[in-house]
Order: sequence, then structure tokens, then C-alpha cells
Amino acid sequence: MCHALLQDPNFFRLLLRIDEELAGKLRAGGCSCGGVLHSADYPRKPRGCLAEVRSQFESRWSFCCNRCRKRATSMSVRFLGRRVYVALMVVLASTQRAQTRVASSLEVLNLVHNAGAVKPGLVGQIAPQDLTVLVNLHLTAPLLLIQALLPAMRNAHFGRIVTISSRALLGKVNRSIYSATKAGLIGFTRTWALEFGADGITVNSVAPGPIATECYKRQNPPGSQQERDTLHMIAVDRLGTPDDVARAVMFFLEPQNGYVTGQVLYVCGGSSIGAAPL
Ligand SMILES: [Zn+2]
Repeated sequence: MCHALLQDPNFFRLLLRIDEELAGKLRAGGCSCGGVLHSADYPRKPRGCLAEVRSQFESRWSFCCNRCRKRATSMSVRFLGRRVYVALMVVLASTQRAQTRVASSLEVLNLVHNAGAVKPGLVGQIAPQDLTVLVNLHLTAPLLLIQALLPAMRNAHFGRIVTISSRALLGKVNRSIYSATKAGLIGFTRTWALEFGADGITVNSVAPGPIATECYKRQNPPGSQQERDTLHMIAVDRLGTPDDVARAVMFFLEPQNGYVTGQVLYVCGGSSIGAAPL
């Protein structure tokens, strides 16, 4: 679905309209000092957008207060990267809210919810708003996506849903809210497997252990003590790769594998052994 939308200039125009509304709302609210906001665009290098709309993606809409000179920039869904995910959420949630048939007419029969962020910290350091952020990302987002896409899957009497959880669902120091929300995703996965099974829709989860992604390397710099501690826990004595995870996802997406549902597959180099029950 993402790939098809990324070739469609109308998708980008829609993102632009969402941004226009967001910017308009910010400007209408004015500055907190009571001053008036004036346009003060600054350039931004567009990434990954279609040539036809590129010129409209070359500036970030921001504003400057005529009194205190403070700068304000509105939320944006127009710029690709991690934002495209947010953008898709907005589009799907809006179509659903509008009670149009757009969402159900999308012929999306495979959904992989692959989104994650870490808000590390011991329990005493956790801010309630960090919990909200991860609940939105790890739980609210897949719920909205499923609600939007379920009618089409039911119509087709076929669907493959894969959630990406984490080995950390079994517990991990410094990861209270990451662990809790990724464990919550397993509750969704198992419940949806029961609810959608008779409609030919399977729901499974992949729970990766340490994977050498950019995000992982930021938290565990190569050569650091954390990295050595992590390797010590991995039976196969190496970090995983995104391909390791992708192959597990492909298994669950395979149309022939309709007899496997509600399962959690650890792709963790053996780091769940001794922690996960049989
Ligand atoms: Zn001001």
C-alpha cells in the first residue's frame, strides 16, 4: 500500500492540504504573548517526494511573532521519512471518521505494523507523557489501521496481519513503557487472531531481539559495554539484521500459511531462551 501511494501525486497533494490546515490553525491561534504571527518560511530539502510536487515541498511553513520575535512551526505530515507513517495514519483515520467508503475500498490485504520508539529510563524517571507517546505508537496506531482495513479484508475473506513486538516484552531493565506497550501488542495480536480467524485473516507477531539498526546503535554504541553485555545474552553470538526480521514476516504473510495465527515468533538469536515459557 505504501509503495502505491508513494507513486501517486494525489497522495502528496493530500499531505499538503493537511499541512495547510495545520499551519492555518497555528497562525490563527497567534503567539502566546498575544502578538501576531507572520510567515517566515525556511527551506527544507525534500526527500523522497515525486518530482511533480517537489517545489511545494521545499519550505517548512513557519511563523515569526511580530512582538516577541519567537518562531513557531506547525506540525507537519508532508515530509517523508518517519513522517510518512504519521501521514498514513492521518489519512486512514480521517477517511474512517468521514464514514466514506475509501478505507474499505483500499485493497489492502497485508498489513505489517512495523513502528517502534524507545523511551528509556528507570521507573522513577518515567514521564506520563512518554507513556502516552508509546501507547499511541505501539497500540493506538495499529488499532486505527486495523479498523480502517478490516472491511476490505473481510470482503476478500483473506488477510495477513503481522505486528512487530519485541523480545523486551519479556522484561528489560530501563524499558518499562517500551516493554509494557510491546507486550500489549501481543494482547491485540492474540485477540484479533480469535476475532478474525473465521474470515480467513491471520494475525501474528514477530518479536525481534537486538537488531543492528540505527536506533539500536544510538542506544548501544558499537564497542560499548552495553553492546558487549548484549552479545553475551545472544546464543548465536551476533546481532540480528533487518533481513532476519523480514524473513520471519514473509513467512506470516505467505497466503499458504493460513493455519498459523495468534503466534509470537522470537527472532532474537536465542536471547529469549530461559525467559520465554515453552
Ligand atoms: Zn510573541
